[in-house]
Amino acid sequence: MSQHETIPVAKPLLGDPEAEAAGRVIRSGWVTQGPEVAAFEKEFAAYVDTPHACAVSNCTTALHLALLAVGVGAGDEVITVSHSFIATANAVRYCGATPVFVDIEPDGYNIDPLLIEAAISQRTRAILCVHQLGMPCDMASIMEIARRRGVPVIEDAACATGSEILYQGRFRRIGAPIGDIACFSFHPRKVITTGDGGMLTTASAEYDQMFRLWRQHGMSVPDTVRHGARSVIFESYFSLGYNYRMTDIQAAVGREQLKRLDDIVAARRRIATLYREYLGGIPDLGLPVEPSWTRSNWQSYCVMLPHRLDQRTLMQELLDAGISTRRGVMNAHREPTYVAPGTARIGTRLRNSEIAQDHAMMLPLYAQMGEEDVVRVAAAIGVAIAAAISVEPA
Ligand SMILES: *Cc1c(COP(=O)(O)O)cnc(C)c1O
Repeated sequence: MSQHETIPVAKPLLGDPEAEAAGRVIRSGWVTQGPEVAAFEKEFAAYVDTPHACAVSNCTTALHLALLAVGVGAGDEVITVSHSFIATANAVRYCGATPVFVDIEPDGYNIDPLLIEAAISQRTRAILCVHQLGMPCDMASIMEIARRRGVPVIEDAACATGSEILYQGRFRRIGAPIGDIACFSFHPRKVITTGDGGMLTTASAEYDQMFRLWRQHGMSVPDTVRHGARSVIFESYFSLGYNYRMTDIQAAVGREQLKRLDDIVAARRRIATLYREYLGGIPDLGLPVEPSWTRSNWQSYCVMLPHRLDQRTLMQELLDAGISTRRGVMNAHREPTYVAPGTARIGTRLRNSEIAQDHAMMLPLYAQMGEEDVVRVAAAIGVAIAAAISVEPA
């Protein structure tokens, strides 16, 4: 990439195989949920090593169905983080329930398991933990509390396709049964994409059946069965359902993306290693920590700026230098829709969450990124931080 082109913060890796796959589906004449969705589900289940995977329209709808499946309803509480994309908390409210916000760890961007237990109440119906930025959260601690207190666990794995965690003695991919249900996103900002798209994984055949019913209006017979039947079938609707389907066009693209996933994750890990190398010498810059029991997919590379620097000024300087960045993950509790009374409960102080939003910054990271791009980003950050520090009063 030339000196003059702006380095984007993210860029999906899509090409001819995806275009061919979408074209194949369009030419076939069957474009909505059908054989491609079924094949994508099977391949995704095999990839993460889980008995069941159910494709839906996006991760937000996946979270909604996951919460419904474990029985979250009006008047219930769900323990989660404020420090996440707003869809995490919104999905709780779709069920008529209240999100209870717990702070993140002081040295990372995931829920602090030490704070969960004090936030549990009589009304707690689920724990919704987030593998933020692709970094697995501490599932061993979370599951210990959840099992002891009899609370189901849903993993918001929107960012964590291809991430791995050491759990009960062996590394497994996120989506393998640990929590009760995991929810993935295939939005273009994530590691693989279908334009929009989502996936639910679970070990429970019962939950999987609920997802399949609810994603298609609660309809007793899927379109594919009626279409293939030799005799007339009348469908019925036993429960309130939704239209949360993935299309076959999206699924066909997803199957091609899945074939690239190992290479994409390997490339992202290589870039994260380069960042560590090139950013290591910059004073007071907090680099992300990958605990020994995780292997992140590095969906995002988020650094903590020296607190005395102004985040926005630094980001503008970098943009002027042709480097696109994003601020730290947002906090739902600071948004107007959560400031309104009754929309959430603040379970703990949210100090680390607020620090992360105000002082963290996400750097460009995508599979096609070259070492020269990493060098350029690191150099610009070094210059900007040095300049800002040099003008400070002693
Ligand atoms: C992106 C994201 C979502 C929402 O995913 P969509 O597929 O866009 O609905 C939910 N949770 C987290 C943590 C995310 O990053």
